[in-house]
Formats: sequence, C-alpha cells, structure tokens
Amino acid sequence: MKIALDAVSAAVELIRDSKHVVAMTGAGMSVESGIPTFRGPNGIWSRHGQPSANSYGEWLEDPDAFWSSERVRRVEPWVAELREALNQAKPNEGHFALAQMELSGILKSVVTQNIDGLHQDAGSVNVIEIHGSRYKMRCVDCGDRTPRETLFINSPPPPCVECGGRVKFDSVLFGEPIPQATLKAAQIESDRADCVIVIGTSTSVKPAGGLPRIAKANGATLIEINSSETPLTRSCDVVIRGTAASALLGLVESLSI
Ligand code: NAD
Ligand code: ZN
Repeated sequence: MKIALDAVSAAVELIRDSKHVVAMTGAGMSVESGIPTFRGPNGIWSRHGQPSANSYGEWLEDPDAFWSSERVRRVEPWVAELREALNQAKPNEGHFALAQMELSGILKSVVTQNIDGLHQDAGSVNVIEIHGSRYKMRCVDCGDRTPRETLFINSPPPPCVECGGRVKFDSVLFGEPIPQATLKAAQIESDRADCVIVIGTSTSVKPAGGLPRIAKANGATLIEINSSETPLTRSCDVVIRGTAASALLGLVESLSI
C-alpha cells in the first residue's frame, strides 16, 4: 500500500507543533509482525468464532474450572493459532520507529491495547499496556503483577504472595474491568496529550477506544494510521492510509530522526 506523502508531511507538521505526543496502538500495529487481528476479514475470531463474552465472570465464579477449560482450550484452533503467532513474532519497523521517536524526545508514551510485548522488545520504555501483558500474572485483589514463568498454564497459579488473593494472567479477559492503576495511567496520558497518533486500532473496544476521542475533546489533534477506514477517521486531523510499519517508517524519515 503506497503512503500519500502529503499526509505524512501534514502529520510531521502537527507533531512538530505539539509538546506531548502520545501513540495509541491496537492489533493492526502487530499485523506486520505476523500476529493477526481478532476482528476484520482475516481476523482470528472471524475465522474461528468469538470466545465467551463472559470469560472473566466464568473465571471469578470457578477459577479451578476455568483453568481446566484453559488446558482444553489450548488445542482450540484460534488459541493455537494466536499462541503460535505470538511465539514467532518479532517487532516490525513500526515498533522500532516509535521507540526511535521516544528516544529522540518527540514521543512521550505508547498506550497499547496489545498484550504481545513487542513495543518493549523494540526499545519503547514508557508503555502502558491497557489490556495487560502476556508475560505477566496479576492478582485481581491487590493488583500485584509478577512475571509469568510459563506461557502454558497446566495448574492453577498459587495465591498472591502479597495478599493471598486470586491470581490470573495479566491479559484482560472479556468482561474484566481494566485494572484501576493502568486505566488511570492511560487517562493521564490522554489528558496530557496535545497530539495522539492512533495506530492500527478500530477504536471499537472500550474504554481504550474512547481515549483518542476524549483527547480530541480536550483539544488534542489526532493522526490516524490504519490500513482501513475506522469509526474515528472522520474525527482525525490527518489520516495516513497505510500499514503501520511503512507509515511509521515514512514518518520517522520525514521527521529526520
Ligand atoms: P482492533 O480494534 O485493534 O482493530 C484492528 C485494526 O487494525 C483495524 O482497524 C484494522 O483496519 C487495522 N489494521 C489491520 N492491519 C493493519 C496494518 N498492517 N497496519 C495498520 N492497521 C491495520 O481490533 P481487534 O483485532 O478486534 O482486537 C481486539 C482487542 O484485542 C484489541 O484490544 C487488540 O489490541 C487485542 N489484540 C491484541 C493482539 C496483540 O497483542 N498483537 C492481537 C489481536 C488482538
Ligand atoms: Zn494480591
């Protein structure tokens, strides 16, 4: 997909005029790293079907049964496909471009819906993982996070070492509230932003998808990078129609960093 140079130039101008630029990323950010989106024509759920909309409720009700069903779900096609893709994935040029923008002081933070850890692998430091991380476990009672020792859970995790509470993997399940501290951190960034680069997200998953709209209402400018039109497109000041890696590479080159 060819990137329109005038859109890139307009984005560069907005970024140069801004003091607190924040990137908000979704599944489209990692498609060029080989991780498919969930929704959309080639999405994992579009091809295999969507999981239960109440998985967090099921976990709360009976964690032991949940972990047992997790073990069975490991062989379900969509889980197998996702795990394989995540295991193989490496950061793409877009992840590296954002890390470079942060290093040069142009970008203040990345608020991501992705759980894949690829922003950190590329060198981004100030990353808020609004839907959690596949590399961590979390206590739902006190919020304490610990490294996830193994990606394949074969037995229920032990209680939290801090409070004795209930531990699950950090990635947010359907129906699960975003942990308070994480949501607060993301809201602070969207409040401080005077320019938000919204990359590879349909903005349909709430509350993450609402943050660019709140930033816009507070006076921030919006730059959208997406291969397709989204419900946010009409509200954006600049739209770069293209894939995340090529668009961000073009942006970094034009910013001369
Ligand atoms: P989403 O809202 O993140 O939408 C994906 C968006 O990416 C769409 O708007 C699509 O047009 C766009 N897109 C596709 N390929 C692109 C590319 N190469 N460059 C730029 N844009 C591209 O939606 P979802 O897939 O429904 O995901 C639901 C939730 O699950 C989100 O929170 C998402 O972040 C998470 N998820 C995470 C991962 C991951 O960690 N890599 C993978 C799948 C889903
Ligand atoms: Zn705890």
